[in-house]
Amino acid sequence: LADTDAFKAATFSAHLRNNENSNRASALGEIQEKRRQLPIFSVRDNLMRLIRENAVVVIVGETGSGKTTQLAQYIYEETRGSPRGMIGCTQPRRVAAVSVAQRVADEMCVKLGRNVGYTIRFEDETSAETRIKFMTDGILLRETLTDPELDKYSYVIMDEAHERSLNTDILFGVLRDIVKRRMDLRVVVTSATLDAHKFSAFFGMCPIFHIPGRTHPVDTFFSRTLPHDYAEAAVRQVMQIHVQAPVPGDILVFMTGQEDIEAVCGTLAERMMLLESPPPMLILPIYSQLQADLQAKIFEPPPEGSRKVIVATNIAETSLTVDGIQYVIDSGYCKMKTYNAKVGMDMLLLCPISQASAQQRAGRAGRTGPGKCYRLYTELAYTEELHVGSVPEIQRTSLSHIVLLLKSLGISDLMSFSFMDSPPSENVAKSMLDLWTLSALDDEGRITDTGRMMVAFPLDPPLSAMLLSGAKLGCASEMLTIVAMLSVPTIFLRPRGAEQQSDAAREKFLVAESDHLTFLHVYERWRSMSRTSAAGVSTCDSAAWCRQHFINAKSMQRAAEVRRQLQDILAQLGLACASCGANWELVRRSVCEAYFWQAARRRNLVEYTSLRSNFPCCVHPGSALANSGYLPDYLVYHELIMTQKEYMSVCTQVDPAWLVEYGARFYSFRDSTRSLRPSDAGARSGVDLVAQDGAEASRYITSSSKL
Ligand code: ADP
Ligand code: MG
Repeated sequence: LADTDAFKAATFSAHLRNNENSNRASALGEIQEKRRQLPIFSVRDNLMRLIRENAVVVIVGETGSGKTTQLAQYIYEETRGSPRGMIGCTQPRRVAAVSVAQRVADEMCVKLGRNVGYTIRFEDETSAETRIKFMTDGILLRETLTDPELDKYSYVIMDEAHERSLNTDILFGVLRDIVKRRMDLRVVVTSATLDAHKFSAFFGMCPIFHIPGRTHPVDTFFSRTLPHDYAEAAVRQVMQIHVQAPVPGDILVFMTGQEDIEAVCGTLAERMMLLESPPPMLILPIYSQLQADLQAKIFEPPPEGSRKVIVATNIAETSLTVDGIQYVIDSGYCKMKTYNAKVGMDMLLLCPISQASAQQRAGRAGRTGPGKCYRLYTELAYTEELHVGSVPEIQRTSLSHIVLLLKSLGISDLMSFSFMDSPPSENVAKSMLDLWTLSALDDEGRITDTGRMMVAFPLDPPLSAMLLSGAKLGCASEMLTIVAMLSVPTIFLRPRGAEQQSDAAREKFLVAESDHLTFLHVYERWRSMSRTSAAGVSTCDSAAWCRQHFINAKSMQRAAEVRRQLQDILAQLGLACASCGANWELVRRSVCEAYFWQAARRRNLVEYTSLRSNFPCCVHPGSALANSGYLPDYLVYHELIMTQKEYMSVCTQVDPAWLVEYGARFYSFRDSTRSLRPSDAGARSGVDLVAQDGAEASRYITSSSKL
């Protein structure tokens, strides 16, 4: 048997007998015992037979029944550790892909990255030995660009299909065609909910297999009134349980994102200090941007006599299962990426969850014994206001990168692509218009050379456009840095209690006219610091430098890695990676060329109006522009953040003449007799949308919606 590591796992008991390190052996023995106790274990043989005999199988099982961690291992063991091709397992979420790969590697007692690995965007922990590969659904979808038959794989597990993420939905269509051509490929679709017949119907009524569940009753309590502040309500509920109910009995709190999760964790810690010798409480946040080592902590058992409180996004709804949860507190909200027609782009919006989600959340309390679920909303709100099920992502977000990807896969007629649920045709048309705006599609809706180059980058089309513009204008090196910095979690840290120091530290990096340039500035300072460190000063200096300046060292390292990968792609496309040195105007031009359609004009001292859709907005208080008190007449922004106001975050001052130059199909000077020379183009002559080109654009929408 070729794969010795694999066999170690399959014949584990033999391995145990020979293991000298009995501590480690007993820990591993426990893991193996846990594996055998999972509900999926009791049906293993039937399940494997079904998978052998059918091209596609849908598997339904409660969360925690062992689908994600066991299926790939069963297949692997079945093939005696040498499947012909890889076993690929997709996850809609990055965090889940990493965490599950780590868990499976532990269960198989192999090192992560060898037999078992994972790939997420910009991060590849696989090797030539990898047989089980966990990845985000987006990664597998992108692999179809270079490997249209997915020949590398003999098994594809589409996990968490009930999430109906955009990429999974598209993969459904792509895989349905591939299984028709590849008789040897096996596809397994897993779902935590019962709407699996839809998946089965999509694959020509393929068999559905139910993993018998073992769930315990969960008592559900509703709020009598709707709380003003769900975070505060959650804190109170946690404290009440903690004081009244005996330990053990862990608590899982569903919040919506990093901000409210950190607020809840902080307040909980404060409230604990007010109590006189309460039982210890282990407070653990989990959200996608959290560092991986902190993410892993949620699975560790709490110290004897203490209670674990996990404060999570909806990642803990079905993707990650933590044992020992007895209480669930459900805020009733989640953040959802939704297309906002008013501003013409996707935004993360706070939305009420669906009834299906509420039930999933409650179910998390009943895995190991009877549990309780506290819903921070009224029963009336549940029955009257929550939708029964969630709307699939494909029907609520912009489709630009997917449209471009499908076009480059040669699917020109998008409306005939086999969607499980078709996207609204206006969304397709709008995405095509956006791509046309970026010159990625031509007037007939065909992909252009520029479009093909954009697809090569694992980025949203406008970010790819920024790199291509940089290559054209001679500042590719700078644009690589900026795009990399935009692709990693928070750069500037602002820890509780050190707000002033961190703000002061940050001020030193600000480039008044541009957040993009501010990022560039930080990176270049960090690089020169790291270079000096490498030259013999001290390896700790870079980390110390980051601490001193309240800069997220991990994010900087990630940015360097992302930059390296993007630079490779640029080289593969045969594009030069020149630097513009100190000529930072070129950088602002590149930003403008890619984002001219997200431009705003200053309307008064503090407010702007978006040029394209005319809605009012402000520069985000965290922006370099706001902090240096420099509010230019015209700017382009990277994204909008909606809180009480609409805030433009990551902004760059632009010359209105550039807007007219790069966005000629949209803008012209209000007073057309003026020349286009920048000197003439100040605030005196404004830039406007051109009515005539607006008509051209709408003609384009109408014609493309037929495609
Ligand atoms: P499903 O995919 O059916 O929801 P999983 O395979 O994710 O189920 O989980 C099976 C079991 O493995 C659960 O009891 C879960 O708690 C455990 N598990 C999963 N990941 C980890 C981890 N990183 N550490 C410890 N236990 C884990
Ligand atoms: Mg799972």
